[in-house]
Amino acid sequence: MTSVFEQIIERGHERICFHHDRKTGLRAIIAIHSTRLGNALGGTRRWYYPTEADALFDVLRLSEGMTFKAAAAGLPMGGAKSVVLLPESGFRSTEAEARAMGRFVDTFSGAYIAAEDVGVDTQYVDWMAMETKHVMGGLKVSHGGDPSPFTAQGVVNAMKAALIHRGRTADFKGVTVAIQGAGNVGRNVARILTAGGATVIMADINQANLDLAVKQSNVQVVPTDKILSTQCDILSPCALGGVITSVNARNLHCKFLIPGANNVLMDPDEDAATLRGMGITYVPDFVANAGGLIHLAGLYLGMTEPQLARKLAEIETTSLEILRDADANSSTTYAAAVRLVHKRLEEGPQKLKSADTVHSR
Ligand code: NAD
Repeated sequence: MTSVFEQIIERGHERICFHHDRKTGLRAIIAIHSTRLGNALGGTRRWYYPTEADALFDVLRLSEGMTFKAAAAGLPMGGAKSVVLLPESGFRSTEAEARAMGRFVDTFSGAYIAAEDVGVDTQYVDWMAMETKHVMGGLKVSHGGDPSPFTAQGVVNAMKAALIHRGRTADFKGVTVAIQGAGNVGRNVARILTAGGATVIMADINQANLDLAVKQSNVQVVPTDKILSTQCDILSPCALGGVITSVNARNLHCKFLIPGANNVLMDPDEDAATLRGMGITYVPDFVANAGGLIHLAGLYLGMTEPQLARKLAEIETTSLEILRDADANSSTTYAAAVRLVHKRLEEGPQKLKSADTVHSR
């Protein structure tokens, strides 16, 4: 088995911290992948992991992804994430647990800024914020609220770039979009697209969420095992990671793959090459779904509303830049996005800071 040090050296992490709170029983890990571009904002995930190795793997993978997301979004921010290891699946959150997590976050003195992720809502964030100012996304104690409407707008901006890149207009009239997952992101994507004239097809294992999407946006519904292979212009997985594999990629019937979920490709290098070979235009997830991070990190950094709006709109221009770079270099769009991330990491934070008048905190 690979040792902890081997794993963090391979992925390039700076710091991993394990914490146990004796009073509440909280077991949590904070992983800082990179502070090269600035302090690192990333959500706190509450999840039941069968083994500690699973939890470590998840937090290492997710925190590395945040470095990519922040750099691709052009934010002077690093990448980090935290996980709370639940004793059993569905274990209910309490104020005491969240406050213990908040105290753990506070020990990083702002190098790590927590936010919501799976299993954490605005209430949990506000409980954490009772112990630390380095948390975003609450409604009462901290601020920023639910980031998913901004994530969804960013995904739609990436869709516009992809349409333009293929010689179409950034207009959704007559465009059919299949969305996997009618959760917070999926429903918001559907709302924006149907308002723009698109036909939206959705699937979800949660009937209540699906019903809500039908009620809000009059979407069409297909069974969950049909959504990925549905005939459509744009496929947007907004549920889980790893849903596109070398096996099912060949069954896709879309022209564009624009995800809201993280890490949708099981093997990004190989699967992006398969998509390219099939003529499917793919905007990498860490580029397309950065809107929520932009909103919370931007607020934390002190950006004004116009600056935030500009950064969110930039997802369209960045996506276009990546799509064009991939064509020019005959590479996958994933490789082009990684090139952009490495360039920004090499350039360092000064260039990003001078691009936006950001106040440090
Ligand atoms: P959510 O929990 O609100 O929604 C996820 C939905 O996916 C749920 O309705 C769930 O029932 C559904 N789902 C799960 N398995 C499914 C399956 N096999 N088939 C169909 N539907 C399935 O989560 P969310 O906030 O909407 O986030 C969705 C995804 O986007 C997650 O992977 C998340 O990590 C990612 N993401 C979210 C944000 C954000 O701002 N919320 C930002 C970036 C990335």
